[in-house]
Amino acid sequence: WSIALPFVKAFGPDILVLPTARGNPFFYHTLTCMLSDQRLRVETIPDIKKAAELAGYEIGLGYPRHAVVPAKITLILPSTRSYPQDARLTADGKELELSDAKKIAEFINEIYLSRWRGLVKSILETISETSKLEVLRKVFDYIALNDSPPLPLRVAVAEVNAAPHSKDAYRAYHLAFRKVSSALSRAGGLKVSPSAALNLTEYTRNYEQYPPASGELRFYACSVCGEVPAVPKSLEVAEDINSSVSEDKLVTIERRNGRLTGERLCPFCMIKRISTTRKVFPRILEELLEKHRGPELPRFPSVSSVAAINFKKAVIDAAAKRPETILPLLREVIKPREDINELLAPPVTYGPEQELLKQIGQKFKGDDFQVLGTLAIGDAEDLLLVGGQRARVSKLAKAVRKVLSSEPALNTYYAMIKGDGDDVGKIVDGGIGNVKAIPTFKNLFQYLSTLTPNKDLGNVLRMIGDNKLEEAAQRLSEGLGREVSPEKIHELLALLKESLEVESEDEDNWKRRFLVSPAYHAALSRSLMTLATQISKEISDPRVGGFVVYSGGDDVLAVSPVKAALNVTLTVRSLYGGWPSMGFLKQNDIESEKDSFVPSLGDLGQSLAITYAHYRYPLSDVLKSAINALKE
Ligand SMILES: [Zn+2]
Repeated sequence: WSIALPFVKAFGPDILVLPTARGNPFFYHTLTCMLSDQRLRVETIPDIKKAAELAGYEIGLGYPRHAVVPAKITLILPSTRSYPQDARLTADGKELELSDAKKIAEFINEIYLSRWRGLVKSILETISETSKLEVLRKVFDYIALNDSPPLPLRVAVAEVNAAPHSKDAYRAYHLAFRKVSSALSRAGGLKVSPSAALNLTEYTRNYEQYPPASGELRFYACSVCGEVPAVPKSLEVAEDINSSVSEDKLVTIERRNGRLTGERLCPFCMIKRISTTRKVFPRILEELLEKHRGPELPRFPSVSSVAAINFKKAVIDAAAKRPETILPLLREVIKPREDINELLAPPVTYGPEQELLKQIGQKFKGDDFQVLGTLAIGDAEDLLLVGGQRARVSKLAKAVRKVLSSEPALNTYYAMIKGDGDDVGKIVDGGIGNVKAIPTFKNLFQYLSTLTPNKDLGNVLRMIGDNKLEEAAQRLSEGLGREVSPEKIHELLALLKESLEVESEDEDNWKRRFLVSPAYHAALSRSLMTLATQISKEISDPRVGGFVVYSGGDDVLAVSPVKAALNVTLTVRSLYGGWPSMGFLKQNDIESEKDSFVPSLGDLGQSLAITYAHYRYPLSDVLKSAINALKE
């Protein structure tokens, strides 16, 4: 989104085709920031406030809650010929004139690189207070981290030069879209790991600069991604990072018999981890998305928290019923945090934990609130699941079971939900006749014939579809009262064929496609964006207790407690086709109490996989299993 931002600001939201700005919480965040620059408060502009709320943008939160912007963006930029005075923009102090495709691509790459560098810089500036952390800056320099964003970006620009009212003018969008799609698919032919761009050889060659901690190797592989070497003396560095961002569990490290053990992170995984902290997050937000207020700070749940949420809930329910039994046992399990009230000051946590806190706040005060509050927001791993705790926890679980007369499963498993729309590429590309879920679209002309109320025209289109050009020309001449030759139809068909043809063994393949238009993509895009926000809302509902990693409309990645996984996956799938009725998604218009509807994806298919995993199993391996399950 931060790449699209300068373009949206210069040319308005309609330049965005995929994803759309309509119903897009990131757009409403940008709009709110722009208004606030003009000293206007979005709360005082009812129409915008309403639209933002419908899009799921929470103004008070200060940032879009869910990741709903896909990794692919399609923009239509204005013409330099018709509007030369308007076809320029500025970002990061650089001006771009849209006359040269190569320059546009360079400009976009520069924005991307500059956002990445800004992100690294804000992290280093926020944490670099100790001499050990100075090492980080050196390592980042050495491996050229600044020049190597963790995701490669590919940009293709298609220029359309068509005289007004020429044949090409009518198919300009289609041709441009075809050009960029094929350029991108050629560019994506070879995919290498982004870490290949790091200067690792040089880095290891100068190994003498990084003396290892005593009794340790000089280099370790990162314990999260396993791909890139961990930063030197990673455990000592992690200790300093934890204290510099005041989150002692940010990177897991333990001192055992005087020696450190724990997670060893590479620069990429380190940056990811640090950007989630309360200290750094506001800076990152400002760097990437701009800021209109001090944001409510997020707390990202760990998978063990997601796994254990229903157990936490059972303990709190039982404590509400029989505090005299449960609270003493709970006190044996956890040490209440004294700073609990401070932690709650910006009261944003993982939604289900937030609900638990509310529940506790209504019933308990003082010491009892502290111990239950610590249970609610504490990381489940250190609270319940490690070492000597087990015996005490199982005593607590037994008591809870007695009070509630039901089984409070202390679950160490969570569910990963991964979904992907079937044939989305073909649909976006206009290749509808090759989409399995749409068997009715056999032939473009037959399809068009069903759209016209004019029976004669319908017949003519069917004849063209059946290659009966003579007959079609005759009928057309009669109907129009002027001569239309079969050659004329043939000429038009050749033009259509040229636009629609893709490499295929089947000669008639082009007839199963149609020309894509901005309107077609805008409708699809609106539907995907609405799905993305509604799916996020369902999964993160406190009753479900899930956490959305990414939701892009057709694809989704989320984690949820085991108990809720099947149901919420079914909800996700139902939304894809349309809810409450097939083909449409309902949006409540809060103020007028009227419903509005957005098209959904109807009959199109979506595959979903649920993978159950132990919270200690490496997340990257769980993700691989989920992807494989989805392929099957
Ligand atoms: Zn890593």
